[in-house]
Amino acid sequence: MKKEENNSMEKIVSLCKRRGFIFPGSEIYGGLANSFDYGPLGVELKNNIKNIWWKRFVHKRDDMVGIDAALIMNPKVWASSGHLKEFADPLVECEKCKRRFRADHVNSKKCPDCGGKLGEPRQFNLMLKTFLGVTEDSASTVYFRPETAQSMFVDFKNVLDTTRRKIPFGIAQTGKAFRNEVTPGNFIFRTREFEQMEIEYFIPVPKKDADWEKVFDYWQKEMWDWTVNDLGLKKEHIHDCECEPENRAHYSKKTIDIEYDFPFEKSELYGLAYRTDFDLKNHFEEPPYEDAESGEKFYPHVIEPTFGVDRSVLAVLCDSYVEEKDRVVLKLKPSLAPYKVAVFPLLKNKPELVAKAKEVYIQLRNPSIGSGFNVAFDDRGNIGKRYYSQDEIGTPFCVTIDFDTLENDDVTVRDRDTMKQERIKIKDLIDYLNDKLC
Ligand code: ATP
Repeated sequence: MKKEENNSMEKIVSLCKRRGFIFPGSEIYGGLANSFDYGPLGVELKNNIKNIWWKRFVHKRDDMVGIDAALIMNPKVWASSGHLKEFADPLVECEKCKRRFRADHVNSKKCPDCGGKLGEPRQFNLMLKTFLGVTEDSASTVYFRPETAQSMFVDFKNVLDTTRRKIPFGIAQTGKAFRNEVTPGNFIFRTREFEQMEIEYFIPVPKKDADWEKVFDYWQKEMWDWTVNDLGLKKEHIHDCECEPENRAHYSKKTIDIEYDFPFEKSELYGLAYRTDFDLKNHFEEPPYEDAESGEKFYPHVIEPTFGVDRSVLAVLCDSYVEEKDRVVLKLKPSLAPYKVAVFPLLKNKPELVAKAKEVYIQLRNPSIGSGFNVAFDDRGNIGKRYYSQDEIGTPFCVTIDFDTLENDDVTVRDRDTMKQERIKIKDLIDYLNDKLC
């Protein structure tokens, strides 16, 4: 990692902590193995990403339905899916300090920490175990899901029977997944508990490669469009890289990693895989799908676009963090910003200004009058400081109520990116902001 890159990651981590985006988990007890908690601003950013994703890929499509399945499933699921046997990373241990590393993440035979000799690689299963019920024996051993995907396969028939969908169609889900990662790290990039947004898109049995390749290419474009247009990441920071066969997951016939230039290194942001009929065949003895016209029963094939929520948050933070002359700005897309607007009375000690500012604040927040924006209110310190404080958390607009407001019923609206100020009538404010924010 280059020094300046290291630097920018440190600055983002520190901003996240200072302003309430992301805290170290269990901090007052010394933390827990690279776990993190999303604070008041972080949860807004994360929810905005998840909601926009759901709207785009579920609500706006005729060929997609959602589910929200249990995190702990019958252990037979993981035996059938191959995870108990195959879901492992190669691990090497330092003979001197006993620290463990992923074999594919170290470049030499020496320990990156102490220089000691690294042992031979062995496979380490990533499934996170726990016990269900009152006894802690092998009969009660269960696993937290390592991906949301399997419940979409296990529930396939139930979804089909209740929605009467015809292929091609997809099942989408967002939710937590757990992996006992050998080396968690790089802030929220690799944690043992994380969140995914996944789609399993079911297609007819391909007669030729071009049949599934067409759908694969379509989803590759959709993922690109989401990354650039919905998250607002810069095109030059995103790279589609096809995985070599030896690096593909056990179920995949083709995988593309969508990589992002994180400050520490270029790494996987999302993945797109052709899972064939591997999963449905593993879970269903009989073909679960019947063609309505021909009556033919078969196992649909699957294209899987998978998106990490936490890596989305991290990429968005890295991409939008800008240091300008005397301010730090998060140039977030307005749709992602935790607060859309901040309202300030010019002076805290003038009750008539505070009362008017509160009136505007309530109007903007109220979904039956305004647009139900998430709005901040700040009356501390001078206006310049308040602007900079909002810039740092990405609030696109600040509205100031001053003495002229009391006379003319207009306010100053200041734009985060251009820092330009405009005078807008209060009656036009909601339309003005709607126009700029949507
Ligand atoms: P990696 O190669 O980085 O270990 P992977 O290829 O095992 O990742 P997938 O199984 O494809 O990851 O998981 C789908 C998505 O879930 C990833 O693209 C990533 O966004 C997210 N993800 C996977 N593991 C983690 C983790 N430990 N922490 C945070 N996000 C993760």
